[in-house]
Amino acid sequence: MSKRDYYEVLGVSRNASAQELKKAFKKLAMKYHPDRNPDDQSAAEKFKEAAEAYEILSDPEKKSTYDQFGHAGVQGMGGGAGFQDFNFGDIFGDIFGDVFGGRQSTRRQRRGQDLQIRVDLTLKQAILGIKKTVKLPVDNPCKPCDGSGAKPGSTPKTCSTCNGAGQIRMQQGFFSIQQTCSACRGEGSVIEEFCSNCRGKGTIRDEKTLSINIPAGVDQGDKVRLANEGNAIAGGPNGDLYVIINVLDNKIFERDGADLYCEAPISITTAIKGGSVTIPTIDSKISLKVPPYTQTGKILVVKGKGASSVRNSSRGDLHCRVVVETPAKLTKEQLKLIDELEQSFSEDSHPIQSSFIKATKEFEKE
Ligand SMILES: [Zn+2]
Ligand SMILES: [Zn+2]
Repeated sequence: MSKRDYYEVLGVSRNASAQELKKAFKKLAMKYHPDRNPDDQSAAEKFKEAAEAYEILSDPEKKSTYDQFGHAGVQGMGGGAGFQDFNFGDIFGDIFGDVFGGRQSTRRQRRGQDLQIRVDLTLKQAILGIKKTVKLPVDNPCKPCDGSGAKPGSTPKTCSTCNGAGQIRMQQGFFSIQQTCSACRGEGSVIEEFCSNCRGKGTIRDEKTLSINIPAGVDQGDKVRLANEGNAIAGGPNGDLYVIINVLDNKIFERDGADLYCEAPISITTAIKGGSVTIPTIDSKISLKVPPYTQTGKILVVKGKGASSVRNSSRGDLHCRVVVETPAKLTKEQLKLIDELEQSFSEDSHPIQSSFIKATKEFEKE
């Protein structure tokens, strides 16, 4: 009985790529697998025939021998051991590995480039979250060639250097190492005629407008990842877009994580008599009670009026530092009143000053 041509067995053309060979064999293997066709001798024969053909054609060296010399060249190289002894393990590891989580395909998966964009936010926008519209330059797939880079109507050809594998095996002493094929840069295919629109790149520089939902609570330097919104690339998935948060300086508040800090100036009379001070918060203005005899540096804490955090929905606190402001300009009459006030002070009026004077005297005696 004469042997059928291996390409014929797999139903592929002579210049089929490694990917096409694999696909063709997988289809036949699924169809004729002995587990699926118990006691079916003709299915078993077909399965064996396909496995043998694939074993030869998937190996670049055996394939080229077969292409040159036919069956005579590869006799005994594959399948010849008989059905029982046939090593299905290797072929199945290779064929079904990627499906069943086994060996990874050696073909390098190319991804589009990741992009970064900086977005300026006010403190309020960062804390409350906002929808931002941004424009950014991006590589989009070229329409005329559908991202392939090949002249419309033509298709990339299987790389003849690596036979479509994208990898080349090299023997170095005892070791066999795999290297990315330099002829096709690991693609497994080469373009013979370039698409004139993208000059073979498969992508076109474009401007993209995106509406980005910035979550509440982002902080300076935070990165928001938008999957697949980066650059496109021929034959692979898009890269990602990283939105880098830049929070603009605020005149009133400083932020430290979920807490906010501010300073509230009060007049000397409010500091003495007590009263209130109005301060803004992220939500609305609030009035803080200032107790009588308040000193500069006193911290008034407002629970739950700080910033939110992306990791935690509860708000931090607002720490308001009171600063007593010395009047910058007074009338003669007012200065006269100050004089009168000063005359009336006793030693108890300024206990901090009194103890400082006492400590100074002690220091001089040391
Ligand atoms: Zn190649
Ligand atoms: Zn193109």
